[in-house]
Parts: sequence; structure tokens; C-alpha cells
Amino acid sequence: MALEEYRRKRDFKKTPEPEGKVVQSKQPERFFCVQKHLASHLHYDFRLEHNGVLLSWAVPKGPSLDPKAKRLAMKVEDHPVEYGQFEGVIPEGYGAGIVMLWDVGTWTPEVADVEAALKKGDLKFTLTGYKLKGSWVLVRTGGRYPAARTSPDGGRTWLLIKHRDQWAGDVDITEFAPKSVKSDGDFENILAEDVPAVWTSHRPAKGGDAGAMLATIIERAANLKADRAGAATPPAFAAARPTKKDTTAKKATTGTRSSKARTVKTVPAAAPSKKRSTRKTQ
Ligand code: MN
Repeated sequence: MALEEYRRKRDFKKTPEPEGKVVQSKQPERFFCVQKHLASHLHYDFRLEHNGVLLSWAVPKGPSLDPKAKRLAMKVEDHPVEYGQFEGVIPEGYGAGIVMLWDVGTWTPEVADVEAALKKGDLKFTLTGYKLKGSWVLVRTGGRYPAARTSPDGGRTWLLIKHRDQWAGDVDITEFAPKSVKSDGDFENILAEDVPAVWTSHRPAKGGDAGAMLATIIERAANLKADRAGAATPPAFAAARPTKKDTTAKKATTGTRSSKARTVKTVPAAAPSKKRSTRKTQ
């Protein structure tokens, strides 16, 4: 499959995302990545390089190291291989929001024929990333049948499941290692580099959890910029702040704080890539 759907959804005059092309890799290793994407909803885009493109699934809750957790993974359009390095801000249009490169590495199929496994809806593979390692499976719900014919969602609903091995565990990896493997930054750091002017009037996510999260991130990014400039918060950002009435914003903020109070005892050798944090946790 090529990149028609990917291109049709985007206006490359307005988005910093790469237009990309189908590139057959000359490397024996296959690339994989996970991009944490705060758009209308927070989700994790799980991408496996295959046949010159990145096969892509949107995982709302993100990957789990717990073999009992079956994470919903919606199959989405193939992305260019080049997209696998993308981190930044999509100012408007499709996918408007912030993209963080959350994990990268290589993947190895545990099956002889990837094409057949995809058709069957049961792809087993091994990941070698910074955060995600070991054996995993992507399985299409409704499994053995050609789902496009039998299910109303066109066979787009899959589950991402960790297999039981030495890399499985109780650590909530999305919470334990929330930051970028590319920049070591969080969403606000990525946003502080490049806040789209259009967001002061048309923020990509206004309501719900994602809207509240984004409001907080915009405020933090503004503070980072203000600190850097040694000046007061620019009025453009002040306008984007949540109002006092916005209780969801408060709830989301407290939620994040309290969840951090939990002590993480198990340190997956895969997790922190930076020396600083490794020293702290070991
Ligand atoms: Mn996405």
C-alpha cells in the first residue's frame, strides 16, 4: 500500500509533517517507533516499517508491559518512513496538536510471512526500543475471518498485547517514561519551540481531557518561553489559559500530580535512555 491516504488528509503547505515517499530500506533491520500525539485526543501512534512505509495503529491508552492488558489499536493509514523521525507541532488541519517521538528502535517479525500475518490479523514480533522490548502481538479483533467483510469498522480494530517474557512487568511505561527519546522533552518543551499563532483562536482540542491537557501544556510552554525571555507571560498565551470555571482542567492537573506520587521500584533496563535519569533510579 502506498501513501495516497496519508497525503490526501494533509495540506503540506500548512503542516510541518513530511510529504515523504515510499522508501524500500536497504538495512536488514526494520524500523519501529511510537509517537505520542496530543490531538483531539491523546493517543500513541505505533508504527512498524514494512514494504517501504510505516504500518500504523493509533493506540489510545498507549502500550502496556502487562500481558493481561489488551490495548485497543486502531489501524490507520500508512505513513512515510521519514515520518518516524518527526517530532513537533501540527498547527492546524488533520492531526493538529503536538507530536512527541516517544520510542524508537527496530522490530523483527516472529513469522515468516508478514503480509500473510497481516491478512490473517495476527502479527507476532519482537521490539528492540528504548522503552519497549521483547515479544508482542497485534491481533485483529474478529481474528480468523477477513474482517473487512464481517465487521462494520472495516477490520480496523486490533489489540496490542505484550507477550509474557523478561520484558513484561507491572511498570506503567507511559507514566514511568513519559518523555521524548529524541529531545528528552515533554509536550510543553516541544510546544515552547513552536507555538502556532492559529491556536489562540482555534485550539485543536478544546473540550474534554485532551482540551484540559492542552490548556495546561500551552500555559507551561508559555512559562518556559517567558522564563527564557526573562519577561512576563505574553498576552497571546494568557488568552489561551483555561478559565476558572474550567473544572476539567483542574482535575486533569491534579490527576497527573497524584499519580506521580507512586514509587516505581522496578526499573526496566529498557526505560530511561538518559544517563542522568538512570543514575537517579538505580
Ligand atoms: Mn495520531
